[in-house]
Amino acid sequence: MDKYRYCPLCASPLMWGMRYGRRRQYCPSCQFINYENPLPTTVALAETNRQILLIKRGIEPLKGIWTLPSGFVETGETPEQACLRELKEETNMDGVIKELIGVFHSLTPMYGDIISIVYYIKLSPGIPKAGDDAEGVALVNIEEIDDLGFKSFNQAFSIFKQKYFS
Ligand SMILES: [Zn+2]
Repeated sequence: MDKYRYCPLCASPLMWGMRYGRRRQYCPSCQFINYENPLPTTVALAETNRQILLIKRGIEPLKGIWTLPSGFVETGETPEQACLRELKEETNMDGVIKELIGVFHSLTPMYGDIISIVYYIKLSPGIPKAGDDAEGVALVNIEEIDDLGFKSFNQAFSIFKQKYFS
């Protein structure tokens, strides 16, 4: 991840040093501290009739692979709202959140630290249609799903399958 070079508040060059127990960038002029936090994302395990809604990713990372609909949580929305919004944007489908499957941490080359919040969503009736960042969309039998590309997605799917469909 790129680091700031100048203070976003007063434009002085930033320095590195111990601040609150950890090496952080700070501003020697106004004492601004550049706290760095993981990015929160949501992931939809959207199911109906033992089938999971997968999308073909239209953007990097892992462009072209079939995986779960996901996206970043925006300011002002809850993780649940974000998950249902992303589902709608990428697949044109609605659903109801049934349960939180888990919260996973991963370190990614593109976005740094990511927290993935994975929900089990029961799909409402509808016709899936690829949109937004998705190049394709398909309902796939749970038994046929093998690799979802991202480690945290695979972990979540494994927990989900064990809990509800074993
Ligand atoms: Zn400053």
